[in-house]
Amino acid sequence: MSPTRRTILASALLAAPALHAAARGGTVVVIGAGAAGLAAASVLRAAGQEVVLLEARERIGGRAFTDQALGPDCRFDAGAEYIHWAERNPWAPIARRAGVRFAEDGSWARTLTIDGRPATEAENASRRAGFSGLDALLAPKGGDPSLAEAARAGGPNAERAAAGLSRLSLGEDPERVSAADYDRLWSGTDLWVDGYGALVARHGSDLPVRLGCPVRAIDWSEKTVRIDTGAGVLGAAAAIVTVPIGVLKSGAIRFTPRLPEPVETALGGLHMGAYTKIALRLDPAKVDPADLGDAVSVITGGATIYFEMGPFGRPIAVANLGGDLARDLCRAGEPAAVALATERLGVILGSKAPGAVQAGGLAGWWTDPYAQGSYSIVNPGHAEARDRLREPVGGRVFFAGEALAGGGAMTVGGATLDGERAARDVLKVLGA
Ligand SMILES: Cc1cc2nc3c(=O)[nH]c(=O)nc-3n(C[C@H](O)[C@H](O)[C@H](O)COP(=O)(O)OP(=O)(O)OC[C@H]3O[C@@H](n4cnc5c(N)ncnc54)[C@H](O)[C@@H]3O)c2cc1C
Repeated sequence: MSPTRRTILASALLAAPALHAAARGGTVVVIGAGAAGLAAASVLRAAGQEVVLLEARERIGGRAFTDQALGPDCRFDAGAEYIHWAERNPWAPIARRAGVRFAEDGSWARTLTIDGRPATEAENASRRAGFSGLDALLAPKGGDPSLAEAARAGGPNAERAAAGLSRLSLGEDPERVSAADYDRLWSGTDLWVDGYGALVARHGSDLPVRLGCPVRAIDWSEKTVRIDTGAGVLGAAAAIVTVPIGVLKSGAIRFTPRLPEPVETALGGLHMGAYTKIALRLDPAKVDPADLGDAVSVITGGATIYFEMGPFGRPIAVANLGGDLARDLCRAGEPAAVALATERLGVILGSKAPGAVQAGGLAGWWTDPYAQGSYSIVNPGHAEARDRLREPVGGRVFFAGEALAGGGAMTVGGATLDGERAARDVLKVLGA
């Protein structure tokens, strides 16, 4: 941040009415303007509570983000794109009311390519066999094994299926995922949204938020919580911290005094997965994505990459991958990631491949300082970690976000519900 910008921010913060209101003990500061922070601020504001919303980035929405870097006709959701468990997800009615286009899961065809050729009927059958009964297998019969361990009893097909599911829906290798936590995730209809990030940003656009304002320290040693942005200090009666647990674990926000041991233990039981997308802009003169089917999984020498072909009619292909391969690609950087995705897409395109990809973009959440991963994963043996984080610290620092959302964890809907929950908890404590 340049000195000029720091100065402007400092004066903006110091002039803020929130500081005066804080003297009356009434302000709640919400840190992070993703789905959870926006929901918390909205509930607080509706209750007439003075609220200040601070966001590190120059935009709201957090990990729900519709990226237009490849051009407006090539926009894609770099983060969330499905409204999961639509039957109870608050975003399903919001999306319907907003008239957003979406497709229901199952309405698109998936094919599998192995080593540059379509999978044979026998290969497809063994894959189907791996997935059939997988849910029952992964439900732990006692203890809290990893997904890899739980799948072992089902043999190699089940192990392969569990690994694919783990990497491509959780973003993590199956050895590092708690089966008990996986088992309690909500399921239901998935709606594939054309612009989930844009919808979240539009929905939260009327909330006053201070952008470009990363919080660096939170001092909760006294009754008034002091929140340091590096450009000024805000006082608050309570703080709701919605930054991803990757950010919390990195120490990017310093707590004084240190977080209590139960909170540290809960954080120790969680880590971030690395679900990653690489979007490729296709030359429509060379290749029509409509000819490629809707979605293709490519297995070439190990990890599966899943391509969405021409989502919502756009001339793009979006590669999805997770686990350590995704981490390595994020560290290697955009050109290397785009090169790998282009090479794997070439396996599908065959003779049409040369020159078909015009540009590419990496949604590298693993190396993003304000995310530090895709979404929260519970380590095997730590199934209670999400609930433990809901305990407020000192009665005035509250955590919220997808990581605390129980069965709704890892999703925008869960983050929203948990943000609302935290706001209600704060209102109770403040007696508002
Ligand atoms: C690739 C990918 C695919 C996904 N797919 C889906 C999907 O299909 N469906 C679904 O429901 N979910 C999906 N998710 C998960 C979903 O995006 C998240 O669960 C949800 O958006 C999290 O919301 P949140 O408010 O908890 O956190 P965030 O959205 O991360 O919000 C936290 C905010 O805090 C800000 N912040 C960070 N550090 C600081 C700081 N020091 N000071 C101030 N602000 C800070 C961040 O910039 C961010 O805006 C996906 C995520 C990824 C990465």
